[in-house]
Amino acid sequence: MTPLQALQKYFGYSEFRHSQEAIINTVLNNQDVMVLMPTGGGKSLCYQLPAVLLNGLTVVISPLIALMKDQVDSLNLSGIPAAYLNSSQSTEEQKDIAIQLQNNQLRLLYIAPERLFAPDNRMMAFLKTLNVVQFAIDEAHCISQWGHDFRPEYLMLAGLKKEFSGVPVIALTATADKLTQKDILEKLNLHKPSVFVSSFNRANITYRVVPRRKGLDQLMDFLEQRKDESGIIYCLSRKSTEALAADLKEEGYAVEAYHAGLNNEVKAQNQEAFLRDDVKIIVATIAFGMGINKSNVRYVVHMDLPKNIEGYYQETGRAGRDGLPSDAMLLYSPGDAIKLRGFAMVDNNAEQSAIMLKKLDDMVNYCQLHACRRQYLMNYFDEDFPDHCGSCDFCLSEFTKFDGTLIAQKALSAVARLKERFGNNYIVDFLRGSKSEKIWADHKALKTYGAGADISKADWQRYLRELTGQGFLQQADENGYPTLKLTPKSEAVLKGEQKVELIAHHITEEAEYETPAYEAELLNALRQRRHDFAVSENLAAYIILSDSTLQE
Ligand code: ADP
Ligand code: MG
Ligand code: ZN
Repeated sequence: MTPLQALQKYFGYSEFRHSQEAIINTVLNNQDVMVLMPTGGGKSLCYQLPAVLLNGLTVVISPLIALMKDQVDSLNLSGIPAAYLNSSQSTEEQKDIAIQLQNNQLRLLYIAPERLFAPDNRMMAFLKTLNVVQFAIDEAHCISQWGHDFRPEYLMLAGLKKEFSGVPVIALTATADKLTQKDILEKLNLHKPSVFVSSFNRANITYRVVPRRKGLDQLMDFLEQRKDESGIIYCLSRKSTEALAADLKEEGYAVEAYHAGLNNEVKAQNQEAFLRDDVKIIVATIAFGMGINKSNVRYVVHMDLPKNIEGYYQETGRAGRDGLPSDAMLLYSPGDAIKLRGFAMVDNNAEQSAIMLKKLDDMVNYCQLHACRRQYLMNYFDEDFPDHCGSCDFCLSEFTKFDGTLIAQKALSAVARLKERFGNNYIVDFLRGSKSEKIWADHKALKTYGAGADISKADWQRYLRELTGQGFLQQADENGYPTLKLTPKSEAVLKGEQKVELIAHHITEEAEYETPAYEAELLNALRQRRHDFAVSENLAAYIILSDSTLQE
């Protein structure tokens, strides 16, 4: 049977999606693979179909026990013998599955990593007696501390390639930036892996970032227009999920909360009710959603700033899996960034902190963007997206664009003159010809010094963000300090070969934010010396202490 025939016979689909076929052929060729495909893209098929065609057992490692049952049930319905092993089963059931395994009656076995590597190593020893022909590692980003959902148990998978050297491993994820991808490949010790990256663009989702003023009122307005629709609302803390769910209940919405602090029964109940549409809205921490296959989620709201783009994109990706128009709305207040910055910095591993801060910066830049949000997101995941998307708040807004080529050239050449070693503020001072002694002494001799004195500081800041959003500049981190660097797209602008359009900012209203007093104080400190937190450490500590209900 060819892969296509198997697709039609067992799965009832007429054709492959994305790069499914190429991925499947690679696995059938006994090679290791890493698959990056957006949520709902069809990753499961990439190992389920080989499992049907290969003569032996496919072991699927999956972090969520709750999801195994769904997957196994639907495989069995399609006539593919599959089972899972986890702690929810009785000894009898487990024995029964072991017997089926010994008799080569199963094509797929789903198992959680902690079970696979149980301390006595019995499971691994048992698997070695079987004819294992493929390992599939679902949600593979869980192995990376730099991903957004690190699970220490996943680190045990590092030994898999050694124990089963000839067996191909397929690692799958919907969420990994460059750094996380590299980490996954290294940690899993994949052998000459082929990496397949599908487009991450979710064209049916409209992305919006709204300045948070009175968050609850803004949310109510938003929900008012979506009374019968399903949605997920993410909050930072457990406490706020419960409070918000209660508020919404009072307004008559069918809503439940979800966070890692609830007992398993309640969690399962709330999740099921949501899947069945008995509950329309789930107010949750980021603990909710992984692997949830609900097609008609019409919106995802973030009441607080997410910690990084990976997590945010994964969460928004839960909207619109059916392909119908859906909304992602983020309520943004700069105070959130200060709080999260505090979280990132208490981490006692300096390298880890630096990475978390960089990712947070990218998230903040996204919120403050004056450019197409989709383009920024795609660029973040290293995907080219040359045009405006037409369906984010920026593209939908009535903005006036003008030929900003000259401004772009000034900015880019300032970055080049300063040898790509400085951050936004410094570059703006340089462009405006700041009389600040230090900058003046260092650079007054340079021709471009002060070449942008006619443009205000605030406008320059916006232009730099816009140029970053359009991919003409990029943020980098140099020893913990954010710097702006040129990109491959910069050269054409500098040479006058490419025009750049910018937005006329006098028409974009400055956002006013709701900022609690202590945050305002921090914010000020931060505005002055964005990345030197020494002055504010006490305050940061205060915020952390006062918000001890961490995420999940
Ligand atoms: P992911 O794990 O990437 O989030 P799934 O594997 O759960 O996505 O697949 C999402 C949905 O797409 C499922 O309902 C699946 O049956 C369906 N699907 C997968 N491949 C195809 C295909 N080639 N044609 C049509 N539907 C498909
Ligand atoms: Mg999946
Ligand atoms: Zn856009």
